[in-house]
Amino acid sequence: MSLLSAETPNLVQLLDSAGLELLWHPSLSNLAPVHRLRLFERLAAGEEPLDILVIEGSILHGADDSGSFDAYMGRPKRDWVRELAERAGYVVAAGTCAAYGGFGHQAPTRAGGLQWDRTEPGGLLGAAFRSAAGLPVINLAGCPCHHDVITGTLLALTSGLPLPLDEFNRPAHWYGVMVHQGCTRNEYHEYRVEESDFGQKGCLFFHMGCHGPLVGGPCNKLLWNQRSSKTRVGVPCFGCTHPGFPASHPFFATRNIEGIPLELPMGVDRAHYLAYKGMAAAAAPARLKDRITEI
Ligand code: SF4
Repeated sequence: MSLLSAETPNLVQLLDSAGLELLWHPSLSNLAPVHRLRLFERLAAGEEPLDILVIEGSILHGADDSGSFDAYMGRPKRDWVRELAERAGYVVAAGTCAAYGGFGHQAPTRAGGLQWDRTEPGGLLGAAFRSAAGLPVINLAGCPCHHDVITGTLLALTSGLPLPLDEFNRPAHWYGVMVHQGCTRNEYHEYRVEESDFGQKGCLFFHMGCHGPLVGGPCNKLLWNQRSSKTRVGVPCFGCTHPGFPASHPFFATRNIEGIPLELPMGVDRAHYLAYKGMAAAAAPARLKDRITEI
């Protein structure tokens, strides 16, 4: 659904401009099951080239590591994915579930990622896996991943542009910025003008569990429908681009010790945070305290 929302380029323009032939997509292709099976078999056997394999959804290992909770034509899906990945020029994990496991990591589904199990390298293909083009699985994290990240990645791969990856094998171009960057509530954050309920204008970090200053992601750089993001509509960032997503504690609460958030903005130490935020809150201008956004 995210990919179908792409506009610049949209999916059809992407396929045309990149010279991509879409072999199969679960929602767009109308291959009869028997022809789909033949296609998979030809690709797995190397009888037909597979330039880019894009996988969405986690890999279910299931009870007793049987893979039986997610099967296609009688075989665990993970076996198909493993075989196809061995043939692919590039392997792309679209979304946090495919990349790191995401929801369903716990028993009984025991979901994992293609090359990671949450924050640990490994996953289905193993930490040493490299596709035919010599790259690890390219992780396009997000729940969901923004469509421009998918189209931009496919364009970079097909045009030969460099695609540097970060420590979690995510393209650094999009995941090297904090979700916090570009949030319209930044000024409220600076002066610790904080909210404890939905529908308000202030910052959601201090009481409502916003992960914006804790995780990397383009959410306030690449907007949805060119205008929106979670924090812009008043929903705290869940940290869905992080391999550890979802956290085991509640989404809409900030864990704290005596009122100081347990997890501080990335790179900030507790002593400096205490000193800075105390002064900032005292200096907060009245227009922010009164939530006046137009002057
Ligand atoms: S709401 Fe979240 S992303 Fe926005 S300024 Fe506050 S902490 Fe940062």
